[in-house]
Amino acid sequence: MKKFKIFICLFIVTSLFVAPITVSASLPITVTTTLYVDAARIGEADSFLISKNGKFMLVDTGLSTDSTKVINMLSSRNVTNLKALVITHYDVDHVGSFLDVIDYIKNHNGTIDHIYGRKYTSAQLNTLTPQRRTNYVMFINGILRYLNRSSEEFNLSSYDTVAVATKANELFGSGDGLWIFPTRTNPIANFTLDGNTTVTWLNKWDSYIVPGMDPADVPANFNNDSLTFKLTYENGEAMLFTGDISWTPQQDLVDNCYSQISTCSILKAPHHGIPDYQKPSFIAAVNPSYTLATTDLSYNRLPGMITKGKYGMVYYTNTASDFCTIAIRLKAPSVYLEDTSLSFYTNDTN
Ligand SMILES: [Zn+2]
Repeated sequence: MKKFKIFICLFIVTSLFVAPITVSASLPITVTTTLYVDAARIGEADSFLISKNGKFMLVDTGLSTDSTKVINMLSSRNVTNLKALVITHYDVDHVGSFLDVIDYIKNHNGTIDHIYGRKYTSAQLNTLTPQRRTNYVMFINGILRYLNRSSEEFNLSSYDTVAVATKANELFGSGDGLWIFPTRTNPIANFTLDGNTTVTWLNKWDSYIVPGMDPADVPANFNNDSLTFKLTYENGEAMLFTGDISWTPQQDLVDNCYSQISTCSILKAPHHGIPDYQKPSFIAAVNPSYTLATTDLSYNRLPGMITKGKYGMVYYTNTASDFCTIAIRLKAPSVYLEDTSLSFYTNDTN
């Protein structure tokens, strides 16, 4: 009897790590595998490598000066193919090493199934600040380079925004295995990384960049255009990616996507954890167990962030480390963080 109980216990414990089990002999047994979210240790900039079962997705590429660390993150996981490359928005700390990532994939004879980024019209491009506009053109250049069409790349010091917008329409309108998000007609806007890990886009469809808007309003609204998504692991645990969105889109998420955001255990803090960018109602709705801030301590942002809401355990990417990555490991039945190089911030007065 005792042996039987031990057997049952072992069976239950084993089941937690090897689920679901398919009973039918005609179907293969599916083994649960770990979902990794690596965050490059590049301080106040974003680059995340999401991987499961040998399938990869890269979200943002850091500053241009972060190239070595971002590429190291890819090579340390033996990445040659990306199922998706997402550029949340075109600020320098998110799209900076985009061309280097494209070159890395090409040098490894790899493929990128989908590239996600927001598409702008020429009128919107003309509304952007010069640097942001040029970053967008660099993004288009990278796609042309990936397609072996380097001769069509735009000169970054002299380009016509109508020609850029026309090229973007050509690239993303249909075909080429490249898709733009958001688009109202894209049938695969939500996709799965490996069949049971899903990415759900939570964006408001329309851009916050309105042609002719006050230049002073451009930076914040450019951030508000960040692609935002929920990454859901097979057991239902989820992480919320927020780019650099500020209060307005955060409230949009609370109003329109409450059931999605309230079921996320891990939050990528909006806009590198800048305290004034964390809307209390949004943080309360997510109520994360873990929060990741892509910053280092030089900005002194974490104390202010922590005192403004309930973030669970707060981790930050920092910069100095032998490791180029940290790993947030999602494994049934619960979420936990894995890696020795992760920096944990605590505030004793909290
Ligand atoms: Zn940023």
